[in-house]
Amino acid sequence: MENNFWKEWSKLVIMLIGTLIVWIGFIFICDKYFGKSFEEMRFIHYFIFMVLIMKAKNIFLKRIKKDEETDKEVFALRPMTCPFQYYVYKAEQHSYRDLPLRMGELGLVHRHEKSGQLHGLMRVRCFTQDDAHIFMMPEQIRDEIKGVARLIDEVYQLFGFKYHVELSTRPENSMGSDELWEISTNALREAIEIAGVPYQINEGDGAFYGPKIDFHLVDAIGRTWQCGTIQLDFQLPQRFELEYQGADGEKHRPIMIHRVVFGSIERFIGILIEHFAGAFPTWLAPVQVRVLPISDKYMDYAEQVKKSLDEAGIR
Ligand code: ZN
Repeated sequence: MENNFWKEWSKLVIMLIGTLIVWIGFIFICDKYFGKSFEEMRFIHYFIFMVLIMKAKNIFLKRIKKDEETDKEVFALRPMTCPFQYYVYKAEQHSYRDLPLRMGELGLVHRHEKSGQLHGLMRVRCFTQDDAHIFMMPEQIRDEIKGVARLIDEVYQLFGFKYHVELSTRPENSMGSDELWEISTNALREAIEIAGVPYQINEGDGAFYGPKIDFHLVDAIGRTWQCGTIQLDFQLPQRFELEYQGADGEKHRPIMIHRVVFGSIERFIGILIEHFAGAFPTWLAPVQVRVLPISDKYMDYAEQVKKSLDEAGIR
């Protein structure tokens, strides 16, 4: 009996988490992101195995088509969304008129975390990442960063989260011109100042491919979690030979932003459940209303009530 109780209870919790993921994913993200001219995409969860090789801080991908012994194709679980979106970009020719081009995905990604490192919803082996990439020209950096920072601020405010921001600047071994680094770092700084949130500067702690800002959420018991991030990238467009045709008719390299708002949606939901101690505000609750007629006599009226609630968009 007791076993059954816990089984039912865990089913209910899993269902609630699943509903939240779907709800946040589809309603929130579709409205917020894709409504703002993001092209939504989806990929399968495995791919022909690629090896990530770290060499002198440069990441590149080597494609292994066949297993040498069995001569069969080797597949792997997808660890990240980035390269897939570059290949979508590369599939067509782009003009400067197409930019900024924003691609977003609710992608399932995988990590082989050790069992001792797994931690509820906070650290899991397979999670949903709200990843997006913006391909743009240097003169578009400022507006795009501001747009993303505003979106992140809007989303966190809506949930009532407190957060702080860290701006990481140019490290010693990095690529890109001084001018590009200056424009990008200033654009990131300006975006944080407009949002009016406290921030600290991590001097020289940026990625080798560009400066970044990380958003750290404070949970109900004061722990901080890095969730949102905006990273400028001058490097990968070069590695993947991404191009667009400029107004001068010549080929140019776009600059790219990697950005996530929630980060891992599973982790965000974990923080959210603790934040509200499970008592979600009505607007967020997967089930907002239940109609319970007290006798058969009122079934018709209950149906009417249900219909009007449905029409008003109440779940
Ligand atoms: Zn990326």
